[in-house]
Amino acid sequence: MIAGFIGLGTMGGPMARNILKNGHEVVVFDVVQKAVDALAAAGARVAASPREVAQRVDYVITMLPDSPDVERVFGGPDGVLAGLRPGSVCIDMSTIDPDTTRRIGAQVRAKGAEMIDSPVGKTADAAVAGTLTLMVGGPAEVVARCRPLLDCMGSDFFHCGDLGAGQSMKLLNNLLAQTIGSASAEAMVLGTKAGLTLDLMTRVLSTTMAWNKQLEVNMPKKPLKGDFTPGFMLKLAHKDCRLALQMAHSLGVQAPIGRATFAGLEEGMQAGLKDLDVGVMLKLREEQAGVTVRISQA
Ligand code: NAD
Repeated sequence: MIAGFIGLGTMGGPMARNILKNGHEVVVFDVVQKAVDALAAAGARVAASPREVAQRVDYVITMLPDSPDVERVFGGPDGVLAGLRPGSVCIDMSTIDPDTTRRIGAQVRAKGAEMIDSPVGKTADAAVAGTLTLMVGGPAEVVARCRPLLDCMGSDFFHCGDLGAGQSMKLLNNLLAQTIGSASAEAMVLGTKAGLTLDLMTRVLSTTMAWNKQLEVNMPKKPLKGDFTPGFMLKLAHKDCRLALQMAHSLGVQAPIGRATFAGLEEGMQAGLKDLDVGVMLKLREEQAGVTVRISQA
């Protein structure tokens, strides 16, 4: 299969490599030359624009930060839509709002092509390992055609429904994951301020209903070691929660806890932490409380 890949950042770079490793041809584009050069060195071909990518491939994959980025890459004289061949499939793997997905999907279909959404779950490590969770929306027969490419990138595959359903699933996943992460960071700081050790809190919480994967897996991996390099940038978590709340609003669903999570992330944005890993929310709460919570690394 010949795949195009646009957006070669933290996630897209390793995802494109995994398609190459599985023996498919890949044509890449990114606005950052260094990201393009790294993929070219791994065997990818390089295109000069999203339009040229679409002209040269059967499957156009996008992995971009936010909805306006996806709209920019698809639209305009150098965009994907301008070069799209009838019968091609667009696979947007970015996390964006479902309405934008459906709007672009209609434009893609008007060109005689198809579109599915497949935002991803898990972390940058899973992008490298090819073990992402894939939350897919779109017609079953189109999804089936894309499976050989999707399987290069992910190991947990869920067909969630029509176009946009993958995005709905992903947004509620991230709102929930971020809420649990923010609450866990707050609890660890509160306990430390109250004189409890991280070791004690971990041993107690792991036996109760408070236990969760943020405490078990995510926080020990980086933030609790004082590592706040991305990973998953705070500005992307902030974007995902904003989009999830937008979805709740448009569906008439109340989300007071989600709004509190978003307000916390907004505080992190205002504090100038947007390009650090979202685990930096722990550091923000530590600084406010005047304590530090760290795994002792003897
Ligand atoms: P990133 O910022 O590291 O990468 C985005 C890439 O898109 C960059 O290389 C950037 O140069 C490129 N880009 C931006 N605008 C472009 C344009 N107009 N044309 C071509 N290239 C353009 O972001 P990321 O962490 O790889 O995340 C990508 C998406 O995946 C986001 O929607 C994010 O929410 C989602 N996501 C990220 C993670 C994570 O752990 N990082 C996990 C799951 C999902």
